[in-house]
Amino acid sequence: MIFSDLGLSEELLRAIADAGYSEPTPIQAEAIPYVLMGRDICGCAQTGTGKTASFTLPLIDILAAGRAKARMPRSLILEPTRELAAQVAESFDTYGKHSKLTKALLIGGENLNDQAKVLNKGVDVLIATPGRLIDMFERGHLLLNDVKVFVIDESDRMLDMGFIPDVERIAAMLPPFRTTLLFSATMPAAIRKLADKFLMNPREITVAPASSTASTIVQGLLMLDKTSDQAQGAEQKIKRQALRDLIRREAPRNALIFCNRKRDVDIVHRSLNRHEMEAARLHGDMAQSLRMETLEKFKNGEIKYMVCSDVAARGLDIPEMSHVFNFDVPTHAEDYVHRIGRTGRAGREGRALTLATAEDRKYLRAIEDIIGIPIPRLDQNTTTVQETNISNSGKAAENPLYFGQKRFTPSKKEKQNSREFHIVSKKVAKTKSTRTNRLEKKSKFNNDSSKTEGHDDNNAIVGMGDHIPAFMTRGPVSTS
Ligand code: AMP
Repeated sequence: MIFSDLGLSEELLRAIADAGYSEPTPIQAEAIPYVLMGRDICGCAQTGTGKTASFTLPLIDILAAGRAKARMPRSLILEPTRELAAQVAESFDTYGKHSKLTKALLIGGENLNDQAKVLNKGVDVLIATPGRLIDMFERGHLLLNDVKVFVIDESDRMLDMGFIPDVERIAAMLPPFRTTLLFSATMPAAIRKLADKFLMNPREITVAPASSTASTIVQGLLMLDKTSDQAQGAEQKIKRQALRDLIRREAPRNALIFCNRKRDVDIVHRSLNRHEMEAARLHGDMAQSLRMETLEKFKNGEIKYMVCSDVAARGLDIPEMSHVFNFDVPTHAEDYVHRIGRTGRAGREGRALTLATAEDRKYLRAIEDIIGIPIPRLDQNTTTVQETNISNSGKAAENPLYFGQKRFTPSKKEKQNSREFHIVSKKVAKTKSTRTNRLEKKSKFNNDSSKTEGHDDNNAIVGMGDHIPAFMTRGPVSTS
């Protein structure tokens, strides 16, 4: 399958070629023709699968004819966070470079009057976070009667962030005859209900099983000793020391370091800088302009380490991220998937290492339940995943797992998990399901190495480096 098979305009095909994409990813191949036909889409796809282009590309062609009236955008894309909204806006710049469409970004933290002025000029594509959109609507700066295409992106994140009532309110402001595209990394019941309510006879597309982690991510878990010293903060101090040790040993090219609380983001950030590991921080309490600036510096390599809260976990597309560290085990298991999904992107290998104490066991079990495998335990003195202790052989449960300097006997559940254990590393790529292998064999997406390797610098690929991501070669599973 090539892009010109999908029915996109010449201008778009040129922009796609400029971006260096040779073939559509599975979600693009599946979704684009249907969006162009005006069908609703219910897409179960994670970021990193090329899903943004699967709706921005056809949207640009659909909107090519016609002009926007003042305050009446012709399409609306809802994103849960300002960072994701900004990222989608960048995609429009990349793909829409040969078209004359206008776009506006409506996100919190920016000046309302400036945004109102932009809306007044008329915009074809409005990319917004729900809160700011409702605010602007209520102030009379915006009318949604002319929206032809409505995209609800990262729906499960909207759900987590409590935005679903806002999304429902917004949908009620839109004209009934429109195309609606809903994307979600997972399909919990509440999102399925939303889809049933707002989509008409949607084309259902799934490109990766919900909550799966990329096979290119090497995961590791470092269980830390609980100290006898119960003084407040002692455990945190040990964790910070362990983090620095891990960073020194791993020598990451760049890394995101996730903390559960904003307060800890600040503390870990200060601590790393004190130890001459230059780090920036990112969390929701920071001014929007500073968040954007920090992110930009991190993306272009000016900053090596970024300590952040989950605001940075979803969707951020930094193709060459070598490491993710979880300073804290996330309390929502799905956040683990999203956090570690910031590395191992675009088919590259990434490492995701998590620090944990005995108190985190409950959360670790929940995580291991959803990812379907235990996270390999790390030896505290090396960061090598203990492939000998914990192996595929089924003997894993007989070996006590490493627990700091002590050893602990795994619980019944842990034993069971260990029996099903397989190391999450490059090796997993070899243990992919027969179905995936079959689809990969069928797909020439990855097989024609002449297309994916050794292309020249003049033909730089935007966002993906010079590598066609293996996980993008998974075939779509469509129903309906
Ligand atoms: P997304 O899932 O939308 O976050 O996209 C992830 C990355 O894939 C982005 O860096 C895109 O630039 C890149 N990408 C999107 N479509 C393609 C394609 N057809 N070929 C190669 N890279 C792509």
